Amino acid sequence: MSRKQIAAANWKMNLTLQQGEQLLNEIINKPHEISENQLVIFSVPAPYLQMAQQKIADKKGVFIAAQNCFNKKNGAYTGEISVEMLNSLGIQFVVLGHSERREYFNESNSFLAEKINICLENNIQPIFCCGEPLSVRESNTQNEYVAKQLKESLYHLSADQLLKVVIAYEPIWAIGTGKTATSDQAQEMHAFIRKDLANVYGNDIANSISILYGGSVKAANAVEIFSQPDVDGGLVGGASLIADEFVAIINALQ
Ligand code: PEP
Repeated sequence: MSRKQIAAANWKMNLTLQQGEQLLNEIINKPHEISENQLVIFSVPAPYLQMAQQKIADKKGVFIAAQNCFNKKNGAYTGEISVEMLNSLGIQFVVLGHSERREYFNESNSFLAEKINICLENNIQPIFCCGEPLSVRESNTQNEYVAKQLKESLYHLSADQLLKVVIAYEPIWAIGTGKTATSDQAQEMHAFIRKDLANVYGNDIANSISILYGGSVKAANAVEIFSQPDVDGGLVGGASLIADEFVAIINALQ
């Protein structure tokens, strides 16, 4: 996948099936242009994947993502979701390593590396989340922290595999808090991530990866954040649950 500008919604554990269906209807029927270099992705709860996939079936540039999958092919793992299941629904993206999964479900960098592997082996593109907690930002060691996440979960991949990964930088202190990183802070970290990728894979590969910003993105700040040269769109939680907000965020893509 060449570098795309992406608006990705993360519904998390919100909405009923009926509310989700209504929200999708409202968003996809509102006027917005999705150009060749742009994608819109809805990461929806697992029980709604099929409904959502059917709803966007004829929409160009619109995709559905799962919010998680397991690192095993199949078997006795009650409650888990396999990549084979996602394949059977036609799902092409999955969010991995969200800070909520790292925090509440103890997902480690190495466990995430296994999930990344099984996704790529099965043609599912991971949206890999990374980002530091407030204590790390306050000690000004966020670059080292994020570099370790990238190294331990991604840098075993071949260049061809890496090209299928979307990275989402989400400073934990900005998620769901209303406290957005400034556009300068976002750009600084995105440029650092791209440089770190370039050190391992070279400039061409690094410049081909989409790096999304996540953390209290809303209609009012999306244009400024997305206009930064190394920011290729956003992963959006709260504001993606409001049709007008998310449509404005889609329209803020460069
Ligand atoms: C997220 O869930 O990935 C996120 C960034 O949430 P919010 O936009 O609500 O901060």
